[in-house]
Amino acid sequence: MKKIILFGGTFDPIHNGHLAVAKSASQQINASKVIFIPARRSPHKHQKPFATDDDRLAMLKLAVTGDNLFDVSAVELNRGEPSYTIDTVRLLKKKMGEDCEFYWLLGADMLKDLMKWHKISELINECSISIMNRGGFDRPNFDGLPDKLRQNQIQTPLIDISSTEIRRKIANEQDIRELVAPEVSAYIQKHKLYTLDHQLKRNEEF
Ligand code: ATP
Repeated sequence: MKKIILFGGTFDPIHNGHLAVAKSASQQINASKVIFIPARRSPHKHQKPFATDDDRLAMLKLAVTGDNLFDVSAVELNRGEPSYTIDTVRLLKKKMGEDCEFYWLLGADMLKDLMKWHKISELINECSISIMNRGGFDRPNFDGLPDKLRQNQIQTPLIDISSTEIRRKIANEQDIRELVAPEVSAYIQKHKLYTLDHQLKRNEEF
């Protein structure tokens, strides 16, 4: 069985924390691929993402170029609303074949809302939801949650980086080069993403 990791998120923008935990998870799971899956901008979510779907996808592609472990799928961006994880997993299972085992990677901060996800019981059965530690957040608390989630948790390095911090730093004209891939940093600069002006403009559009 080929092991495939699916890593969904807003990636607004993708940062070195995402890349490092994805690599570490792939080593622990012995996965041959990690597929980054940017989420669509939801009309119900205010304020984020700040970058457009096209910009977030472009930055993801730049960040993974040259590493065969990583791939990017626009499946959720290309689908109409609402876009559910269970549909993404089923679609990729169908596309990639029966001989693949799927893992859905999730940071510890996401655990509190996980049981509210659409068809969560089915999702837990159809793939291994793998909860990672996250620097800057409490250790995941599995009390009252299905045993499978506790069993599938993985110990990734604690890296205290968030996209929120990156957006805030750019708005404050601070350096973010240590936090993202060089190509991503160059893209952000070239397209003037996350500057105070850009964020205010995007806020008006929401
Ligand atoms: P924001 O600050 O905008 O909320 P974020 O940094 O949390 O963004 P997302 O794109 O929302 O990034 O995260 C995608 C997935 O990656 C989520 O499951 C999240 O928990 C996980 N994640 C993000 N950053 C880290 C990190 N530093 N360590 C471990 N997991 C992370």
